[in-house]
Amino acid sequence: MRQLSEHQDIRAEIRRIWDLQKKKRWPLAQSTVAERRARLKRVGAAIEKLRDAINEAVRKDCVNAPEEVDITETHLVMEELGLTLRSLADWMRPEPVNTPLLLAGTSSEVRPEARGHVLVLGPFNYPFQLAVTPVLYAVAAGNVVVVKPSEKTPATAAMVRTVLAEAFPEDEVAVVDGDGAAAEALLELPWDHIFFTGSTTVGKKVMAAAARHLSGVTLELGGKSPAVIDRSAQLDWAARTLVWGKFINAGQTCIAPDYVLVAEEQRDALVERLKTAVTDSYGPDPKASPDFCRIIDDKAFSRLRGSIDSAVRSGARVAFGGDSDPATRYLAPTVLVDVPADSEVMREEIFGPVLPVLTYRTLEEAVEFIRARPHPLALYVFARKRNAREQVLEGTASGGACINTSVLHFANPELPFGGIGPSGLGNYHGRAGFRCFSHERGVLRQRGRPLSLLLAPPYKGRMNRLTARIARWLE
Ligand code: NAP
Repeated sequence: MRQLSEHQDIRAEIRRIWDLQKKKRWPLAQSTVAERRARLKRVGAAIEKLRDAINEAVRKDCVNAPEEVDITETHLVMEELGLTLRSLADWMRPEPVNTPLLLAGTSSEVRPEARGHVLVLGPFNYPFQLAVTPVLYAVAAGNVVVVKPSEKTPATAAMVRTVLAEAFPEDEVAVVDGDGAAAEALLELPWDHIFFTGSTTVGKKVMAAAARHLSGVTLELGGKSPAVIDRSAQLDWAARTLVWGKFINAGQTCIAPDYVLVAEEQRDALVERLKTAVTDSYGPDPKASPDFCRIIDDKAFSRLRGSIDSAVRSGARVAFGGDSDPATRYLAPTVLVDVPADSEVMREEIFGPVLPVLTYRTLEEAVEFIRARPHPLALYVFARKRNAREQVLEGTASGGACINTSVLHFANPELPFGGIGPSGLGNYHGRAGFRCFSHERGVLRQRGRPLSLLLAPPYKGRMNRLTARIARWLE
């Protein structure tokens, strides 16, 4: 009974915000570059003012290193904000397009316009950045926004609320707290656009809910992002880069390398280098390192522990790591070898500090292995030979990619970021972020005498003569 009334309360609260924001939908859509920039600058000021408190909240929720938090959370948001402030006038400008001869006397342009009422659902990992960055782009594009941060990171959710409340009145940007049930209640409304970051499983539910109202969706999902190491790669650099990209945030990164494909004769040398890189980064006992993060909750910890154990039962070997402490949700940086391709750890996104290293005989075999699986969110190729890099990139599809490094493509706000197929739909960051929350309205203007006077019936062969003359002229 209590649960029912809680649900009724959340629905009433959501409805209150919805009705409130409805009044601002058009004034915000019609706001100028200067007004939007002023609004965005207020978020920047709030983030700068509360930077330490934000970082502390994330550190408390996720138990990771303060420096790592600053660079991956507040710094990245400020980078995206800086680019948006510098580029907004350009992005908002209508873009003239060419006119075909048949339409002489008209001109056309593409106007980016606010979508309207936007919902943002954030995940538990990088919980500040991944909730706030989409809001910035939604505001830049002139929308009213409701955001629901993940309930798994309550301290950060409180900071998201504080920062956004300091920068915006509730009728422009509002925060709704709550779990998956709150998200489901939000999804009952006819949003103009839903921006979801999270798992592929929940992403499917979001898309199904959006279909009820034909709401637009951007789905930023996960997947198994492979790292392919060509025989020409600089093995030591590849290992160090993989260790950094995999074990930052204890592997709870959507674009973390999920597994490695390496030539069979190079596998042991790679594993040795991975081990050295882990020791160099986190010391001989990563549990004692202030820089190594913990797993978010008991459920995720049991899942990861279970997938290591199940991989071992199916024939895999722990090359190093493998130890864990359920009390503190510590799971050591772990590398698995001899992993059967059909084992559990190779079926689902790992999303933790476990790295299976698989082998190939030819690079084509590695490409085929990736092609046979759902398109990943990211792909990493390590090769000094250009042909090898291109063979992997051209022979596969992924949301984004890095050559000779990992993860960093996310940090360049000039690159569109998003998945493909099961790893996501649509993209954002930089101009792509502004476009994600804008409707591109095609507008044609008639100048002088209307063309339709010439085009209207009775035709008497006039249209055929006209198109034939244009065709001759264009030859
Ligand atoms: P999740 O379980 O899918 O949750 C994401 C958000 O959806 C949370 O706010 C969650 O609320 C909410 N939610 C839960 N159940 C829902 C439902 N039935 N309907 C609607 N929303 C619901 O994902 P997560 O565990 O937080 O994040 C990890 C996943 O996100 C990984 O798969 C990772 O790869 C992916 N990810 C992708 C990106 C990207 O940019 N592509 C970035 C980060 C993470 P509560 O948490 O409050 O329950």
